[in-house]
Amino acid sequence: MRYRASALGSDGVRVTMESALTARDRVGVQDFVLLENFTSEAAFIENLRRRFRENLIYTYIGPVLVSVNPYRDLQIYSRQHMERYRGVSFYEVPPHLFAVADTVYRALRTERRDQAVMISGESGAGKTEATKRLLQFYAETCPAPERGGAVRDRLLQSNPVLEAFGNAKTLRNDNSSRFGKYMDVQFDFKGAPVGGHILSYLLEKSRVVHQNHGERNFHVFYQLLEGGEEEMLRRLGLERNPQSYLYLVKGQCAKVSSINDKSDWKVVRKALTVIDFTEDEIEDLLSIVASVLHLGNIHFAADEESNAQVTTENQLKYLTRLLGVEGSTLREALTHRKIIAKGEELLSPLNLEQAAYVRDALAKAVYSRTFTWLVRKINRSLASKDAESPSWRSTTVLGLLDIYGFEVFQHNRSASLPPVCLSSHLPCPGPHLPLPRVPDNAPSHLESCSVCLSPAPGSVYPLNYCGLFCFPHSFEQFCINYCNEKLQQLFIELTLKSEQEEYEAEGIAWEPVQYFNNKIICDLVEEKFKGIISILDEECLRPGEATDLTFLEKLEDTIKHHPHFLTHKLADQRTRKSLGRGEFRLLHYAGEVTYSVTGFLDKNNDLLFRNLKETMCSSENPIMSQCFDRSELSDKKRPETVATQFKMSLLQLVEILKSKEPAYVRCIKPNDAKQPGRFDEVLIRHQVKYLGLMENLRVRRAGFAYRRKYEAFLQRYKSLCPETWPTWKGRPQDGVAVLVRHLGYKPEEYKMGRTKIFIRFPKTLFATEDALEV
Ligand code: ATP
Ligand code: MG
Repeated sequence: MRYRASALGSDGVRVTMESALTARDRVGVQDFVLLENFTSEAAFIENLRRRFRENLIYTYIGPVLVSVNPYRDLQIYSRQHMERYRGVSFYEVPPHLFAVADTVYRALRTERRDQAVMISGESGAGKTEATKRLLQFYAETCPAPERGGAVRDRLLQSNPVLEAFGNAKTLRNDNSSRFGKYMDVQFDFKGAPVGGHILSYLLEKSRVVHQNHGERNFHVFYQLLEGGEEEMLRRLGLERNPQSYLYLVKGQCAKVSSINDKSDWKVVRKALTVIDFTEDEIEDLLSIVASVLHLGNIHFAADEESNAQVTTENQLKYLTRLLGVEGSTLREALTHRKIIAKGEELLSPLNLEQAAYVRDALAKAVYSRTFTWLVRKINRSLASKDAESPSWRSTTVLGLLDIYGFEVFQHNRSASLPPVCLSSHLPCPGPHLPLPRVPDNAPSHLESCSVCLSPAPGSVYPLNYCGLFCFPHSFEQFCINYCNEKLQQLFIELTLKSEQEEYEAEGIAWEPVQYFNNKIICDLVEEKFKGIISILDEECLRPGEATDLTFLEKLEDTIKHHPHFLTHKLADQRTRKSLGRGEFRLLHYAGEVTYSVTGFLDKNNDLLFRNLKETMCSSENPIMSQCFDRSELSDKKRPETVATQFKMSLLQLVEILKSKEPAYVRCIKPNDAKQPGRFDEVLIRHQVKYLGLMENLRVRRAGFAYRRKYEAFLQRYKSLCPETWPTWKGRPQDGVAVLVRHLGYKPEEYKMGRTKIFIRFPKTLFATEDALEV
């Protein structure tokens, strides 16, 4: 009798390593490296499609896991599934997130090397879900620590709290993370989780004061209003109805069918206690949440001299109490700007527009600083209680990176959707067609569009039909895309390095791989003096003189002939048409993105007037007083700009990741409608490109398509050769040599390493696999 793979997985696929090969026509290959035509994007996508149709959402590119969001509960994350993936070799079971989880954990334990799982993908692709499943896997399957068992609960419970404050409903995802997150889980020498630490990146604080149509503010506001007890809301001066708050009505969708704010609130409230919040701290925290809502309802009227005056006394009263500040000081800070000239303090009154700007700036600062405080507070709760003991030194760390994907707003990117804007239900006009009228709640800063080219400012605004405004990308997308460039660079570096290391370890000559090195784009953004961030910072140092447009001019002067940079002035006749005058275009590794410079200076400066800071520093709310420190007032040095802070935190992140053994999960979103079973090819093709998957596959395939330990290879195919069947008595390596000679492998088709056989082409392997079937 011959060796046969027989065990069937719950998904109906045989669970041995090559089982999917035999069924490959139906379910595709479970590792893209086995694709015959590995350079073909069409073949890649067809393979994804076949697997998706069979509810097989996971596929490998070598050690990289590609995941397609099923938008339905596939029942594949149970305790039984966890057990099935524990302690088995990566390739002996169908691809799964738990296979990655277990492989990483075992490497951490046996090699005692720190690990990092990097999860990437666009909004709604499933990054946060994957992160949560991984955490759950470790919480459920790892041994409990001898002391401080509560850390497992804290690790899990930090999630709902961070999501309440950092996630929101957007058009693309009902639970979209509006910040980047890196989380370390620390394990003791027995493999038990004993602590954790979170780093957060660039919270989208503009959402506090403005939401696009169809989007919401951060979850916590709605949760508090829906779920908060009557008595508490009374103390906070809040009404239940979200419509009462201007900061909650801009998107016109306070209620979302997929979200239950009331029950979510219960979860968050409980989680706060688990992560060591006292009742007083919870009260202080919620006072701040409430004060942001009150701030949004502060109105101004102009006096005879056009100076702004606060007209909403009630709101001001609540604010004064909740923030623990003097009413008169706050009133003055909202309507005046303090200037220090020649050592003298002068108060200059603000007009209506300036006062509204200051109010919103304060709301954003209060919220985002509270978020930072929250992360610090969670970190204190997650800190290993054994930090001082000797066992601390023997801990190993597993990092989980859940960070925003490359952002390119596509016009009409999804060909299979009807041409109707999901947010406004207006037909999408497309380029150069008459445009719909602006709804009253249209964002006021939308003046031009890179698709329609000539909309009359203020009278029309264009939408694309995934509901995204097709105005050019802004400062936030610039930062996010820069982050993706850095991570792509690291990815290529580490993938190539690990390939090289494996070849060296196996004693096989390293064959250099051609690939696009995106360092040139990273430099363009971050280089000292000449990079975009440096130039932006320089302009931010010229208050009163510099504008967004002078920034653009400076860019044009400094970066004239860069192959990855373009502006209207620098473009040729043909390209010029697609570029507005206030825009620049970067040719990212993943494609072209056009950015509008509007708001770059303001967002990068992120200044808060001095008297607002003074007011907040005097706050008696203990959380606020930690968020606004008096040292800020005496500090003569200018605070770092937003882009520079972000750049430095990214450099730090890259160093953290570099010091660890990397694992990758690449998430793909199958459609824009958040529907199960829909595979939108246009959309997926974009993501395959932005995730750099073809490049990844090319690098992985540059040498050998397939590699396997001698023992495993021999076990699988020994029945095909009389000399190795039924048992081979000698070294497995010699057995494999005899076996492949018998099978007629040509010398150029394979190489024998120290512990593995390397096969160059999938067809060689398929032929061998097919021989088993005969
Ligand atoms: P963002 O960048 O906006 O934060 P994301 O990549 O973190 O997006 P998730 O919030 O993880 O996206 O996923 C979006 C939604 O897709 C989830 O709320 C869930 O409904 C669904 N989903 C994601 N992954 C899975 C999965 N493996 N199984 C079932 N449903 C999933
Ligand atoms: Mg997320």
